[in-house]
Amino acid sequence: MLREHQASRYSDYSNCRDLQKDKIVMWQHKHYVLLAVASNFGFPLLFGLIHGDIWGALLLVGIVRLVLSHHTTFFINSLAHIWGSQPYTDKNTARDNGFLAFLTFGEGYHNYHHIFENDYRNGIRWWQFDPTKWLIKACSLLGFAKNLRISPEDRIEKARATMVLKRLQVKLATVPNSTVCLERLEEEYEALMLKISDYYSAQKRMIELKKKRLVKHYESFEFVQQYAEMKRLLDEQRKSWKMVTAQYA
Ligand SMILES: [Zn+2]
Repeated sequence: MLREHQASRYSDYSNCRDLQKDKIVMWQHKHYVLLAVASNFGFPLLFGLIHGDIWGALLLVGIVRLVLSHHTTFFINSLAHIWGSQPYTDKNTARDNGFLAFLTFGEGYHNYHHIFENDYRNGIRWWQFDPTKWLIKACSLLGFAKNLRISPEDRIEKARATMVLKRLQVKLATVPNSTVCLERLEEEYEALMLKISDYYSAQKRMIELKKKRLVKHYESFEFVQQYAEMKRLLDEQRKSWKMVTAQYA
């Protein structure tokens, strides 16, 4: 089912040349049927022979495990597009859902994944359960993975704020004197966007200066001060945005 479904559509692998160069991936691709049969039938059978309960092992280690792992995996295409929140985008139906993330090793933070699909993470907050991210990070520390991609923080922060704005715009449209509230909200939003852009472009320059070891240089001193000021202004605007959005929520 998994291998031959719409085989004609998936016979072209030209968009993943990097994977084609990976020996382990290609080995798995080449021996897929053998590996699938061995891992789903062979190993449970072997376990059953050692344990003395062949049927029990085939059912539990083989079939139940397969059913559970397939159903939770495909939750990503079904439940993770129906159930949960949309903190980053509403341009598709993908949702963030902590419970699904628990069942799917982190992939349940699917709203984030759909807008920032190049990012190796799904749950980007420290408290979000994303063992896949932890594994990839650990592999990179051990030298098994490299060039991990993460999305620019300014884009993430802007996406979050835009979703808050959208939600409140809908909500405020129904209250009396909505024009005043909406105007204030939109002003705060614009100011936040501007300060995010200012700060993060300054941060980029700061990183470049640090790379060139120019930060301590006399001419950079003024910029370092400006950078600190931008950070302060952004922090203030974040607080102000939080206040106004909490007030209208
Ligand atoms: Zn999806």
